[in-house]
Amino acid sequence: MSKIVMASNNRHKIMEIETFIRALCPNDKDGKPYEILSLSDINFTDDIIEDGETFEDNALIKARTVAKLGYIGIADDSGLCVDALNGEPGVYSARYAGGHDDADNNKKLLKNLKDVPAEKRSAHFVSVIACVFPDGRELVARGECPGTMLFDYRGNGGFGYDPLFLYEPMGKTFAEMNAEEKNSISHRARAMEKFAKLFAKENK
Ligand code: IMP
Repeated sequence: MSKIVMASNNRHKIMEIETFIRALCPNDKDGKPYEILSLSDINFTDDIIEDGETFEDNALIKARTVAKLGYIGIADDSGLCVDALNGEPGVYSARYAGGHDDADNNKKLLKNLKDVPAEKRSAHFVSVIACVFPDGRELVARGECPGTMLFDYRGNGGFGYDPLFLYEPMGKTFAEMNAEEKNSISHRARAMEKFAKLFAKENK
């Protein structure tokens, strides 16, 4: 059975990506279902240093680390890019306020955006999914979702910057959507759709 290791410790993201793999590309080229594992399932505890300058760099760093161990490595690197802040927090999204704390990151973002008027608060989420096979083949797919940064929190679901990110076509923040709604339009869904096509080709 082919083993995929998701090179991420973010439970939400692993769940989202796993849902897509199961729906779009569940079996390997011998028709056997992929076994999808996490870093802790393979007892991998080292810190992977994500020091790339782009989402693509960071996703590949993580996926290559796992592929070197003999697994199919899949990693996502994602973040929020706010136009009025020249693309910040960008690749620093997870540690924008210094730690890895969503509440602190959101507070810092609101503070930095406090004088930015409503019509200038455009932003987009980015997700890049990279896959590296043990034989060195590499796949990369990018998805983006446009939105507007609010002045205050709305909604209790999701994670990260979800309560501040309004997706205009649905009139809801990511934190007000259920999983099905978010998965129908999110940056990760868009990257995943592209990724699944690339991955399916490699499976033939
Ligand atoms: P990564 O784990 O290095 O990819 O960092 C991703 C960071 O970007 C997360 O910690 C969140 O702060 C933010 N982020 C990425 N995707 C989302 C999302 O779907 N909703 C909210 N925040 C997100």
